[in-house]
Amino acid sequence: SPDYRNSVALPRYVRVNTLKTTVEEVIEHFQSEGYVLEEPIKILNNLSPKTIRKDFHLSDLLVLPPNTDLHNHILYLSGKIILQDKASCFPSYICSPSINSYVIDACAAPGNKTSHLSAVMKNTGKIWAFDLDKKRLRLLEKLTQKAGCKNIEAIHKSFLDVNPLDERYSKVEYILVDPSCSGSGIVNQLDGLVDSSETDQSDLSQKSQERLKNLSEFQIKIILHAFKFPSAKKVVYSTCSIHSQENEQVIKGVLQQNYNFILANRNDVIPTWDRRGISSEFVDDDESADKLIRTLPEDFTNGFFVACFIRKSSYMESAA
Ligand code: SAM
Repeated sequence: SPDYRNSVALPRYVRVNTLKTTVEEVIEHFQSEGYVLEEPIKILNNLSPKTIRKDFHLSDLLVLPPNTDLHNHILYLSGKIILQDKASCFPSYICSPSINSYVIDACAAPGNKTSHLSAVMKNTGKIWAFDLDKKRLRLLEKLTQKAGCKNIEAIHKSFLDVNPLDERYSKVEYILVDPSCSGSGIVNQLDGLVDSSETDQSDLSQKSQERLKNLSEFQIKIILHAFKFPSAKKVVYSTCSIHSQENEQVIKGVLQQNYNFILANRNDVIPTWDRRGISSEFVDDDESADKLIRTLPEDFTNGFFVACFIRKSSYMESAA
């Protein structure tokens, strides 16, 4: 696979923070600055300067041309818009916790998905946001406060050490699992954390293979831990990796080791999104890959992966 980093300019995606404003208000604001509203489209290349459009797939997302710098924009500074890549908006959108529900964000910092969950829940119910990294968790507190979220409790703790049978979490129905990954899908990676050789699977050094194996084992473990929460009915897993070891192979591992959760049907996992999981990873199983989401820079987003597990019984109920 080609090395995408430093080679693609993604559109400037703007997630409207519906806790503070509306999509219409934000569009009007940009129009007052001379932006022209255009129709939603799937193929987002050659976006003209000073154009704005609703995203084709996500209702709270707007699309502006690449390299539009909004870091000093009043709507950003006031927390009314959040600058977040399209693919990383998928997990909270797919999770879609209902109003007044109880939610865990297992690996939450710096919190863009947490504030998105909070907005989907309209600031009702409760989100427990765990993270191992204290500094990143402080950032989560700052960012979610700026976004006007009032239903989040940030906890500095490994999610693996959270007791699923603790009474506090007895009503948790939705769990988001966005754990550490190789980051190999991130375009224009600035922090240099990822070894560039990792984007080509055939070239993976032994060290990288070892690292992927460790990540993959950790990812399986953390999903299986989420399944232990007695009221959990939906568990959404995501990575910003393009490696099947952290994506399809993690899903296979999880499905082999538990009998209570299955993959949600494509209809509940952004059915209009065309790029699905890699089917050759699932031998004798024609259905699973289609239930998964992959994104690549060709889709005008970072490389990303999302899977949505649901408890078997809740699937049976909804099918009945
Ligand atoms: N969900 C975040 C967002 O959208 O802003 C990004 C999460 S980042 C991909 C992964 C996070 O997992 C890191 O902040 C890392 O500190 C955290 N992490 C790693 N191991 C963990 C564990 N055992 N329990 C909780 N958090 C963990």
